[in-house]
Amino acid sequence: ESYLGAIESGNEALNAYVAVTGDIAREQAKASDAKIAAGEARPLEGIPLGIKDLYATKGVHTQACSHILDGFKPEYESTVTQNLFDDGAVMLGKLNMDEFAMGSSNETSFYGNVVNPWRRNGTETALVPGGSSGGSASAVAAHLCAAATASDTGGSIRQPAALTGTVGIKPTYGRCSRWGMVAFASSLDQAGPIGRTVRDNAILLKSMASVDAKDTTSVDAPVPNYEEFVGKSIKGMKIGIPKEYHMDGIPAEIEALWQQGIAWLKEAGAEIVEISLPHTKYALPAYYIVAPAEASSNLARYDGVRYGLRVPGNDIVEMYENTRAAGFGDEVKRRVMIGTYVLSAGYYDAYYLKAQKVRTLIKQDFDNAWADGVDAILTPTTPDAAFAPGEITDPVTMYMNDVFTVTANMAGVPGMSIPAGLNKDGLPLGLQLIGKPFDEGTLFQVGEVIE
Ligand code: GLN
Repeated sequence: ESYLGAIESGNEALNAYVAVTGDIAREQAKASDAKIAAGEARPLEGIPLGIKDLYATKGVHTQACSHILDGFKPEYESTVTQNLFDDGAVMLGKLNMDEFAMGSSNETSFYGNVVNPWRRNGTETALVPGGSSGGSASAVAAHLCAAATASDTGGSIRQPAALTGTVGIKPTYGRCSRWGMVAFASSLDQAGPIGRTVRDNAILLKSMASVDAKDTTSVDAPVPNYEEFVGKSIKGMKIGIPKEYHMDGIPAEIEALWQQGIAWLKEAGAEIVEISLPHTKYALPAYYIVAPAEASSNLARYDGVRYGLRVPGNDIVEMYENTRAAGFGDEVKRRVMIGTYVLSAGYYDAYYLKAQKVRTLIKQDFDNAWADGVDAILTPTTPDAAFAPGEITDPVTMYMNDVFTVTANMAGVPGMSIPAGLNKDGLPLGLQLIGKPFDEGTLFQVGEVIE
């Protein structure tokens, strides 16, 4: 009731929720009370969560914040949300996001932009929360839920976490089932939590993760009790600092934050080593080929027949065209056009195939670091703090926000953002830890030191 009240009074200013499910929350909370009374409390008993609108929730608003999915209420539950509910979690509602998770500022939602609860010192100018899980990040930062589900294709958990002073982890590709998550770029998409602390992330990921026959890319690897890693000493651990992440044009305060993070880890007994990930500079351009290519294919299903919106035409082709013209926003159309172009005969080899080769090289860079004994890699999460809506209008400049985060998606390795301090304007900044495949535990262990 306290969280529902907070949403009632706080959501108008933030636009974090696009649907509030009070009745479901009360029902689930009642079931939790019964479990607790019976002495059978499950791991997340009664914990009120916000759910990103990308997760299929049975009978509840699920539109990935797109107009084209108008009125869509799935017949089934996503595996991740089902796992959370099976562990006793309560759903407060569905959270705003960039349309189909395409964006870095949460300005592309059909439901309007999300507002970050933070402000620059001495100003009242609204700021973006980052994207695409901006609703998740803002809601957690403003206490409109205890924690939230999010998803990360190129940084959409870590970047908004960094810009709102929250913690978010993108686990290893295959750690969580993608069943029932609206697909953006299937080989990059991963589920994960945004929460207020490293420990909260550890507890949530334990519940979210599972191998699932309904997603053949989910992996049957044991899911450790992540909470046991929180608070464990990092003495003797080898932390890699990739020299290629010192990029031109990165503000001095980001570099300073990174140095501060290095000092904290050193103080806690870790060994700091400079490493090289030589293909880093190709990650962003390769990502912006692979992700739109997969998106253009995944989004072909929105044809006005199977889901949501239909805008009639004189024949079926015209109906497709009218529906897709009206149903998709500008950024989604841009991705579909880029994706279709790079996959088309004559350009496939030059763009898509090339990008896939680059992707292999990026993965090999990480493999080499692990082979050299590196336990985790420390970098900044974002090249800057939160900015104002409308401040970045050029799409390529917007894509630059993902420069530090896309590498982990391209390689399939886990990445976590931890709040590490405030910039000169009093806005939160995050540091990123990148880990070995299926070694999220180490990220929680090291992350807690930074936190
Ligand atoms: N900002 C990136 C994009 O727009 C990543 C989005 C995401 O991780 N879903 O593609």
